[in-house]
Amino acid sequence: MLFKLNFIKNKQLKRLLEHSSYLTIIFVLVPAFLYFEICIVLPTVVQEWTIPYYLHYICATFLLMNILGNMIFGMFTDTSIRGKHLDSENKDDWTMCAVCECLRPPRAWHCDTCDICILKRDHHCTFFACCVGYYNHRYFMCFTFYIFIAMFYSFYYNIFFLSKFLKWNRGLIIGKFVFPLAAFVIDFGEESIYVFLVEINFIVGVFTGFLFLYHFNNLIKGKVTPERKSCSKEISYNKGLKLNLIEVFGSKWYFTWISPFINSPLPGNGIEWVVENKCQ
Ligand SMILES: [Zn+2]
Ligand SMILES: [Zn+2]
Repeated sequence: MLFKLNFIKNKQLKRLLEHSSYLTIIFVLVPAFLYFEICIVLPTVVQEWTIPYYLHYICATFLLMNILGNMIFGMFTDTSIRGKHLDSENKDDWTMCAVCECLRPPRAWHCDTCDICILKRDHHCTFFACCVGYYNHRYFMCFTFYIFIAMFYSFYYNIFFLSKFLKWNRGLIIGKFVFPLAAFVIDFGEESIYVFLVEINFIVGVFTGFLFLYHFNNLIKGKVTPERKSCSKEISYNKGLKLNLIEVFGSKWYFTWISPFINSPLPGNGIEWVVENKCQ
């Protein structure tokens, strides 16, 4: 949605930036953040080798498994029309894709970056370096949800940590919060790094929280992002809360939040759609 990199017209440069973005997340940001929380913050706020200390380890493992697991499943689940048997008894509402040169089902739209039509296309996700559509919508929702939870959870303890670690130093610390990058150059050290990490923690938390709520609000209304303002077409795929959840999370929708490894078959095929009712 917000991270479409639309301002970059060169497709290859756009792909390169996207691949750099997820590689940076997996191999730099997640390990750096994990090291900061587990090795620096945790021993400061909780006594080592006690039950609460182990419980935090379990929570961190659960969050890490869900963030990376949903990210990888989301990236490797093909939700395009590639290799799908596109057939339906009624093709009245199908549209022609001039690029793929084929008829595509309702809710499928072409993605310029992926260069193919995507079933029930929601948006192109920079973090996944692919589109979010019918088959990987679940993983995107869980990915944003767990990043938000991880940021919220760590921010709570980071504040305790900072309050113990930071020194007032004649108000210099306020400058570090306002200009964290400048503090890196002027006064590079542990304090500047910690302030910077906690600020990133806050920004990512707010951003993913907003992202999750925005998409969850669409989900419970049976909509994808391009359909948010589509009432003019008088078409709605809203089946009611429970069926809308099943449409994205599958038949075991109440379990899927636990792990991306839980198999939860989707009710349809992303090709045939029943228009439930007219938009109000
Ligand atoms: Zn197409
Ligand atoms: Zn795409």
